[in-house]
Amino acid sequence: MTNTLKKLNPEFNHVLQSFSDLAVGSGIKIYLVGGAVRDLCLCRKTFDLDIVVEGDAIKFVHTFCERNKKKFKKHHVFGTATIYFDDFHVDFVTARRETYAFSGALPKVKPASLKEDLFRRDFTINAMAISLNKEDYGLLVDFYGGRKDLENGLIRVLHEKSFMDDPTRILRAVRFEQRFSFKIESVTLELLHKAIMQEAFSFVNAHRLRDELISILKESKPYKYLVRLFRLKALFFINRSLKINKKDALLFARLDKGIYFYEKEFEAHRKLEEYILYLTAILIKFPRKDAASFLERFGFKKGDKMRILSIYDNLISAKTLTKKTLPHKIFQFLNPFSFESVVFFYAYYPDKEIRRHINFFLSNLSVVRLKLKGHDLKQMGFAPLTLYGKLFEKLLHAKMDKGFESIDDEIKEARAIFRKLSA
Ligand code: ATP
Repeated sequence: MTNTLKKLNPEFNHVLQSFSDLAVGSGIKIYLVGGAVRDLCLCRKTFDLDIVVEGDAIKFVHTFCERNKKKFKKHHVFGTATIYFDDFHVDFVTARRETYAFSGALPKVKPASLKEDLFRRDFTINAMAISLNKEDYGLLVDFYGGRKDLENGLIRVLHEKSFMDDPTRILRAVRFEQRFSFKIESVTLELLHKAIMQEAFSFVNAHRLRDELISILKESKPYKYLVRLFRLKALFFINRSLKINKKDALLFARLDKGIYFYEKEFEAHRKLEEYILYLTAILIKFPRKDAASFLERFGFKKGDKMRILSIYDNLISAKTLTKKTLPHKIFQFLNPFSFESVVFFYAYYPDKEIRRHINFFLSNLSVVRLKLKGHDLKQMGFAPLTLYGKLFEKLLHAKMDKGFESIDDEIKEARAIFRKLSA
């Protein structure tokens, strides 16, 4: 296992070693846990490091950050802390035991041993640890058979109340099953069915369901995850009448392609929040008011709501992009939208002309900038200032339509526009 830890990138290895050095001096035990251990066993790249401290995690993080001049955040209520490195962060938690007063409740937490901490986790494959302590550095700690389940490709809960304690684990089970092409182990699957039949989702805080749904939509090609969830009747929490069928496969495939096209061709633009597109593909099946009330109830961010609902409101008018039109008209239509909305239109309408216009907007129109600035106009004696906004808008549109490049052309055009505006 020591070698397994070496599979981590050198930066991760270096920080784990320095945590280990501090732990020896502090007389406490620390362990790498959760997804990083699972991914290391699977020889997959890992992005997050979670550490369990048998002792006071916050005190440990505090000391480490003081000595190493690092930034950190602490959450006393949860006994957790996060250290921020340049390109990643590491989460620490005080080893704890959890009890649930009722199904879906937030757990009551008490300090505990590593073994108890691992028992509160979702699945055996996520309940392994690797020691970061000098005497057995790199040793795999596997109380619940996670290694064997990984080898056999099985998602298994640790105890039979697991899904009822925390029904978001239903979504997590499907997420890991689909991501790794594993199977949900048969008893676990029965417990999962039972929890769904007992309406377990209705006991959970909607925000937690939202976060798990977003995690699913952030997976690569989420359609198969949704089909699986639909067949398990685990998507009712979105809308009782939601169905995922073959017609959706087509739209999701087009979205996959549209996203790929955008990321490949337009690297200079910001990265897409892909889940927005996939969520819209689900919600678009319902009337706007149902979609709006879902987004509200589940506490989606204002920006998410706006992007999704603007797609609703403009899906029909986006069809007008089939017509031959001036470049600045294409710009005027598409520019107010987020890139997520623009790519959604691209994927939704397989029409060649619409796609040509969107491509032209993304590659060309959206990056057109004027060389002329406000102070140039002032120097040229243009007044009053109140006309500048209108003038710049018209100048930008003219630049798009006529395709001129030089500042001299801009000046010439600006004079002509100014004459008309002040006539
Ligand atoms: P990913 O690769 O998607 O980040 P992960 O396993 O690291 O997967 P996180 O959501 O970051 O997932 O959770 C970290 C760890 O915390 C998990 O591996 C699991 O041990 C534990 N965990 C997370 N959510 C739950 C939950 N709802 N119930 C129990 N344990 C959980």
